[in-house]
Amino acid sequence: MDKYDIVIGLEVHVQLNTNSKIFCGCSTNFDSPPNTNICPVCCGYPGVLPVFNKRALELAVRICLALGARVNKKIYFERKNYFYPDLPKNYQISQYKMPLGEKGSLELSSGKKIGITRVHLEEDAGKLIHKENASLVDFNRTGTPLLEIVSEPDITSPEEAFDYLTYLKLTLQYIGASSCDMEKGFLRCDANISLKNKGATELGTKVELKNMNSFRGVRDALTYEAKRQRDALEKGEKISLETRAFDAAKMKTVLMRSKEEAHDYRYFPEPDLLDFSISQDILEQEAPYIKELPLARRKRIQKQYGISEKETDILISDIFLADFFEEACTMFAKPKEITNWLLGVFLEQVNLLSEKFNAVKMSPQNFSKVVRYFCENKLNNLAAKKVISLCIVTDEDIDAVIERESLAQVSAEAALSGFVQETINENKKAIKEYLEGKEQAIMFLVGMVMKKSKGKANPKVVREMLEKAIKLLKSNEAANS
Ligand SMILES: [Zn+2]
Repeated sequence: MDKYDIVIGLEVHVQLNTNSKIFCGCSTNFDSPPNTNICPVCCGYPGVLPVFNKRALELAVRICLALGARVNKKIYFERKNYFYPDLPKNYQISQYKMPLGEKGSLELSSGKKIGITRVHLEEDAGKLIHKENASLVDFNRTGTPLLEIVSEPDITSPEEAFDYLTYLKLTLQYIGASSCDMEKGFLRCDANISLKNKGATELGTKVELKNMNSFRGVRDALTYEAKRQRDALEKGEKISLETRAFDAAKMKTVLMRSKEEAHDYRYFPEPDLLDFSISQDILEQEAPYIKELPLARRKRIQKQYGISEKETDILISDIFLADFFEEACTMFAKPKEITNWLLGVFLEQVNLLSEKFNAVKMSPQNFSKVVRYFCENKLNNLAAKKVISLCIVTDEDIDAVIERESLAQVSAEAALSGFVQETINENKKAIKEYLEGKEQAIMFLVGMVMKKSKGKANPKVVREMLEKAIKLLKSNEAANS
């Protein structure tokens, strides 16, 4: 890429966390059967009037504040006119000339700030479901509130685009404005990419990329497209202004439409909604939600708890995990142990749950108690794992579970001496090997005692007892011979 600079801008659509749609009272529930959350307003019947959802405005303002965007005092909606089977009104209520927010920025982990050009509110269209011999339409999504966030062309590599999306998603999740669940289409991204001569100010012709349904997809599509454009420029070809779709299976972009087919949306002010002013009250009401954004939390957690950058990145990758971690640390101030158990056994268990973090019932208090018991030798590794797996979706009393499943670790030598003696008597060969210098033989013997204790013995204590017993055996033999 040395001859050229890559120039990328991203357009992200996020669904706002509202219970009802943006201009009617229909539910936004994702799991409802097709065409059950619809009414004359969102289906565009003649004579109906839209009513603006206050909660959608509040969340949109919150996002503007989190992105440091200027919130325009007076805003209005416009109609974007086009025909498509998933759009029953044949127009989408959107914002064009006067967006809700302008001139913000998002900071990346590298410290670089990516400019945000504009942030505007609009309604979503329905969903087409293509079957073998037919296409079906579900209007449940029609009229759900969307926020479009358009970046400046400040992004200079596919990796940086990935980082931008990661931090944008985290930011929106941290402030509770959107779940950003990509599998449900609550976050969608289009990209613009062009190449220009290194250091030049004049931009090249840009290509719009669509159909990318994961952050990795965005990165792969941009990587492919940068290479395609560079190869074309090297051959002296011209890049044409066009929209291309990403084919994830073939890992390439394909032509969707050229400039000649570009839409004229004939925007005009929405006559059924009044212009309105954004009051100081709403700005003050939303400001407290912008507490500590992900990047700031990342820096603080790493410093405060002395854990690695990689571990911190996993912890902050979901606000549930970050909150859980910090709360567990207030109960048991051993962040390294908490991190190990949280990112190890706990995440393993979470990944087995279909609803992931949403299904977790175990409290940070109970989790920290298990880790504490492990550190205090009350539970061995296996038993601690078992307690976590048993309590993750129940949050039962830890002590009761340990009692019921008789998982408490046995460290008392008196309780273990019988098992140790039996093991010594039954494994002469292993003892001989150990005495001949084969270190691993002791682990085999520890394993035998663990088995006899049904996994409850403290392996450290067992090892010490075995070593002591073998030493004694050896000195007795020496004395007898
Ligand atoms: Zn409706």
